[in-house]
Amino acid sequence: MIGSNPKKTMNKKIINIQINRLPKNPGVYLMKNRLDEIIYIGKAKNIYNRVRSYFYKSQNHSPKIKNLVEELVTIDFKPTPTELEALILESRLIKSFLPKYNRQLKQYKNYPFIKVNLKNEFPRVYLTYDCPDDGNYYFGPFNKAYSLVEDIHLINKIFKSRTCNHNIKVNPMDHSCLYDQIGQCVAPCNGSVAKGKYKELISEIIDFLEEGESDVIEDYLKHTSDKKKDLIAKQLFEQAQKIQRDQNRLNHLIKQNRLLKDAQQYADSVLLIRENDLHFAFHISDGRVKNRFPLDQPSHLIDSLNAITDQSNDTPGQLLPGIESTGQLFSPLSKECLDEMKIIIHWIRSDQGNHLIIPSKSISSFLDSLKSNTIRQLSDIYSLAPNYLESQIV
Ligand code: SF4
Repeated sequence: MIGSNPKKTMNKKIINIQINRLPKNPGVYLMKNRLDEIIYIGKAKNIYNRVRSYFYKSQNHSPKIKNLVEELVTIDFKPTPTELEALILESRLIKSFLPKYNRQLKQYKNYPFIKVNLKNEFPRVYLTYDCPDDGNYYFGPFNKAYSLVEDIHLINKIFKSRTCNHNIKVNPMDHSCLYDQIGQCVAPCNGSVAKGKYKELISEIIDFLEEGESDVIEDYLKHTSDKKKDLIAKQLFEQAQKIQRDQNRLNHLIKQNRLLKDAQQYADSVLLIRENDLHFAFHISDGRVKNRFPLDQPSHLIDSLNAITDQSNDTPGQLLPGIESTGQLFSPLSKECLDEMKIIIHWIRSDQGNHLIIPSKSISSFLDSLKSNTIRQLSDIYSLAPNYLESQIV
């Protein structure tokens, strides 16, 4: 055939054969080039459908996907019994193999934190990429630095905390800067605010980061909502839009705070899920899913929970990949653990089916309840919450 490339045609045929062998189940797929290097890792509810989609309507694909398909020679896969496990496996494999077409790679390396340098006499709030245990306050990690820079700018503006890095204690200034003049800094530099008052302001920022709530933020949101209405009435839409953007930013930050809080709260827990009428218990330890226990009847759940609480019993469940390779878990609250917890919390929030998450410290009371209630079928267990949970994630 004129213009056809026999090598490409052959490659296409080989890929088609591989696609037809893919399962229609959840799992992870690994795409490799002619050197057998993994160039992309993805997850799917249905591996066959997902991989097939790379080869349909290819004219609409991004340049990245077109290049990926061009380089692709082999497709491997790892089926998983649940979609959640596919998500976790994908994340672990990406971190291990660092495939060139996985964008998460860059994000993973560059997780930023909010830092409050409490060791300074007049602390500042700013972005950092490190989180050492050095007596300063760190909050995060967050996904995107460019958006966090804007968030921090807004926090400093609303709370009027300083943004300069002058050594105020050593060199008090007799004049302030523009931030004081435009009302965006309480100006500790020239003694306009006492050290104690300034520290109160910093505590309020930390409370807001920790709790996602603050009187200062509430006042700001109320005041700006009134102002926005006014601007709209005067048809000053551009200024009203700017206020809306700041409000959206604050609301997004509050959601992020909740996500991080949940991630930390459930870093040691048991997650019970039902998927395709199958039930599983996932043991989460130090922020990583360690084991999966398939459950066929209520007694299996009791056995699994006993095994999880019994430290001497090692791994009666299915050990998840990524645990055995390192031999030990990551330390609590590391970036890797929080990343995995975020995946789990996101999944729980988007799950429409049955699930229940039990913090480790509540497992024994949950077990008592399982024993004292007559649980005839596994689907009944999901209604045993929330008495045994401090907060149900929804
Ligand atoms: S007003 Fe003073 S403390 Fe505030 S940012 Fe300016 S120089 Fe720093």
